[in-house]
Amino acid sequence: MNSQLSRRSLLKALGLGLAATTLPGLVRAADTIPNIVVVGGGFAGATVAKYLKMWGGLSVQVTIIEPNSTYVSPILSNLVLNGQKTTDDLSFNYLNHSQKYAINMIHNTVDTVDNVAKSVTLGSGQVISYSKLILAPGIDFDSVPGHDFDKVPHAWKAGVQTNLLKDQIDSMQDGDSFVMTVPKAPYRCPPGPYERACVVADYLKNNKGYTGCTVTVLDANPAITVEAETFAAAFATYGIDYVHSADVISVDSDTKTVTYSVSGAASASMTAETLNVIPNQKAGSIVFAAGLTEGNWAPINPLTYESTKLNSSDVALGLDIHIIGDSQGTGLPKAGHIANSEAKICADAILRALKGLEPDPAPKTNSACYSPISSTTASWLTAVYEYNSTTKLMQPIDVIPNNDVVDKYAAGGPSTENYRAMFNWSGNLFSDTFS
Ligand SMILES: Cc1cc2nc3c(=O)[nH]c(=O)nc-3n(C[C@H](O)[C@H](O)[C@H](O)COP(=O)(O)OP(=O)(O)OC[C@H]3O[C@@H](n4cnc5c(N)ncnc54)[C@H](O)[C@@H]3O)c2cc1C
Repeated sequence: MNSQLSRRSLLKALGLGLAATTLPGLVRAADTIPNIVVVGGGFAGATVAKYLKMWGGLSVQVTIIEPNSTYVSPILSNLVLNGQKTTDDLSFNYLNHSQKYAINMIHNTVDTVDNVAKSVTLGSGQVISYSKLILAPGIDFDSVPGHDFDKVPHAWKAGVQTNLLKDQIDSMQDGDSFVMTVPKAPYRCPPGPYERACVVADYLKNNKGYTGCTVTVLDANPAITVEAETFAAAFATYGIDYVHSADVISVDSDTKTVTYSVSGAASASMTAETLNVIPNQKAGSIVFAAGLTEGNWAPINPLTYESTKLNSSDVALGLDIHIIGDSQGTGLPKAGHIANSEAKICADAILRALKGLEPDPAPKTNSACYSPISSTTASWLTAVYEYNSTTKLMQPIDVIPNNDVVDKYAAGGPSTENYRAMFNWSGNLFSDTFS
């Protein structure tokens, strides 16, 4: 057998960069090439893996570890609820990553990180060593007493959950109620919950023709967190009942009842035919398991996305561990577009570090969220952030004195033109991440 071919086939079969104990001679040869392991194949993980190989070529081995063979995009997933998209339309596989970019794909879950031995252990028990580790696991949820996701969907990770919520909405009759909750900020996709309320209200009223249904939004925040005027106007048009400062206390998943407290007052309950509780959020559990969180999120250096978490003796816990996407705790919004942007900065910084070079001292990131408001109109919100070397934070550019992002960075209202642009924007993002 051709020796190059046999080495390549073996590496492929074993997973590049497997623990040195598996095949010492072979892995010693491969060890001269840094092995970068990416945990999670969402907007952050798939992008960083692709760009590491696009920019690093044969100088790096890249492995993605992701349990699912198909990724379902949460972006545009509210359009599944009104039947304009299916979860199949929003599904992406990793064929391009393995074939076009020669990225090693392993479909499994990472259970533990050993930051001393520099290895991860998979659910299968397999141990994989890394030169650099990138954690991109997205979000996990704070638990709410009584909340059973199989009965009361959150639909904040797309796929089965999205279809379950759609089925429940589709079984509603005229006069039924839809109640949803908005998590406390920061959470994934700031405008997303308000967008969902509008899409569902529009669907029940204008598509189903129901005149007696009610839509209620229980928001844990003191006010609509973004595009407040746009959403307040849409809520008024649809007759959506909006309650701010409403903290969820518990859920009865069988009777579809949510118990909540407004501004700390005595608890109240609402029962709905369709109840959609989106719990408060935190970094993916693997980031907690690795000990790399402060509060609910992971502190990182925004020049490299390397963890800055120290142990009690001020020893770096996260050396050579980078955290990107929704799990990072910089204050950057938790959104797919900016996750894609963070991934490129992280890939560039890692490739520079491998050559002994400093990271880009002035990175910029960009976020964009498009929100369907009806079946034909959408709104949008965007922001550009740049590194401030004094505060060492990413800060939005062009802010006005009260620190709001200036108006030119929001649509200011829904339109059909924005609706069309939404598909161009998302098509570009999907393709830049998965193609
Ligand atoms: C309704 C809705 C609308 C949205 N609209 C927009 C929008 O308009 N614009 C925008 O920019 N963003 C939008 N978002 C937000 C966007 O979807 C997320 O911010 C984005 O998916 C975050 O990317 P990520 O890679 O950090 O996490 P994810 O995309 O969730 O990917 C994480 C991946 O990690 C994997 N994983 C987790 N743990 C492990 C483990 N231990 N081992 C291995 N793999 C693991 C998961 O299986 C998953 O595939 C929207 C979200 C929702 C819900």
